[in-house]
Amino acid sequence: MKLTFLGTSHGLPEKDRYCSCTMIDINGRKYLMDAGAPFVNMLIRRDIPLCDLKAIFITHLHGDHTNGLPEFVDLISWYYKDVNTAMLLPEQIGVDALKLWNNAANGNNTRALDFRVYKEGAIYDDGTVKVTAMPTKHGNGNTYAFMLEAENKRVVFTGDIAGYANDTPKVCFERECDAIVGEGAHVSFEEAKDVFERCLTNRIIISHVAPRNECALARLQAEEKSYSLTVAYDGYETEV
Ligand SMILES: [Zn+2]
Repeated sequence: MKLTFLGTSHGLPEKDRYCSCTMIDINGRKYLMDAGAPFVNMLIRRDIPLCDLKAIFITHLHGDHTNGLPEFVDLISWYYKDVNTAMLLPEQIGVDALKLWNNAANGNNTRALDFRVYKEGAIYDDGTVKVTAMPTKHGNGNTYAFMLEAENKRVVFTGDIAGYANDTPKVCFERECDAIVGEGAHVSFEEAKDVFERCLTNRIIISHVAPRNECALARLQAEEKSYSLTVAYDGYETEV
């Protein structure tokens, strides 16, 4: 599978970074982890048909993970009517808000879209990817990490967490992961050092890095480690 980091910024946009949005490509089928970037425009600029997008998984409802959704919902309602992407959100209020905004923009008679509200556990399996949601302690609840399994590989996306020492998803210590995509805003990379050594992976990719954490992250990158540590940037692509 190929990961493309469409947006890697923390809670705020930066000059060269959109907010959180990562595309997973498995034999042409595309999936998004979070939608904080203007991903419709980005897919079109990359010549990727929106029909290829099979599902969007939202870790939590903060804007830096969701702001690309209203545009997508609008456009697939009235123009891209052959797009049937599943949109998985952790709270009904998010679905209600998207529907209400869509009604405001397009009236009440728009076609039904595939919104799904998920809870902890297995939330998606289309025969290509399986996704499992695991709660984290970020924000005021209803925030999740995701484990994505496809092609006999496993990737964990931590989403936003309350620090690596307290809140790294347990699965990272219990099962071999081909990659862990972690966050760099609500964490300390001093405390992450020991935690990362205990994760059952050779590969950690950090996204969502806040400027205040950049120095500590660079120091950790420079150290000798048993795993590779990459800092994602907008447009970074990698095979897992
Ligand atoms: Zn965030």
